[in-house]
Amino acid sequence: MRVRLLGSSLVDSAHRQYVTSFLINTSVAIDAGCIGFWGTPQQQEGVKHVFLTHSHIDHTASLPIFIENAWTPAEGCPIVYGSHETLDDVQTHIFNNKLWPDFIAISKTMSPFLRVCPLQAEVPACADGLTITPVRVNHVVPTLGYVIRDGESAVIFAGDSGPTERLWEIAHQTSGLRAVLLEACFPNSMTRLAEVSLHMTPEMFGREVAKMPKDITVVAVHIKVRYRDQVIRELNELQLPNLEIGECEREYLF
Ligand SMILES: [Zn+2]
Ligand SMILES: [Zn+2]
Repeated sequence: MRVRLLGSSLVDSAHRQYVTSFLINTSVAIDAGCIGFWGTPQQQEGVKHVFLTHSHIDHTASLPIFIENAWTPAEGCPIVYGSHETLDDVQTHIFNNKLWPDFIAISKTMSPFLRVCPLQAEVPACADGLTITPVRVNHVVPTLGYVIRDGESAVIFAGDSGPTERLWEIAHQTSGLRAVLLEACFPNSMTRLAEVSLHMTPEMFGREVAKMPKDITVVAVHIKVRYRDQVIRELNELQLPNLEIGECEREYLF
């Protein structure tokens, strides 16, 4: 499975992921923070499945731009997946004929721009050879992590979340698990902020890693750009054996 963190800064984009999108192989994306600002319209048209973790703007900001870029007069269109709460928020707050046209309604009368597909927690969906299982995690709005499997390996995208349990129970039951992409949002000095916003510090990150199966790669993602150096320093102090600091545009093979 090929995984890329898409960049979202015009300068030094490898180290500045201001908003979140991951690309899996070429046709599946997790979150739409920057997918609409990535590549060519033709590459965006190739992304047929977008799985949203939650509604926050750093995960949905470029969704309307992506939907516009990917559209052609042909019949095919991207499918946007998420919890019913997230999809309701996308319709109410983005495709509402104010911030952006209601492409969900327009799609019922002409060549479609997008289809939406609500997900149930722990009920797998299939997309281009991948099996994608949503799991509820612990954030300030309803949020899903995703367990993604191809024929050989599995990778977990843990979403925005504070400390959580169910996802790690499922991780222990997931054969072929190679990697977890886990957020490390704020430095330890901002623990209070991490607690109220249900995000993670390096110290909390270390406690979550202890709950996971051993011998998997843990990639630190969603690091607040302003505090990146400090967060990386604190993550390295944990001396975790299989830690990687996520870099944008590098291709990870799992
Ligand atoms: Zn969030
Ligand atoms: Zn976020």
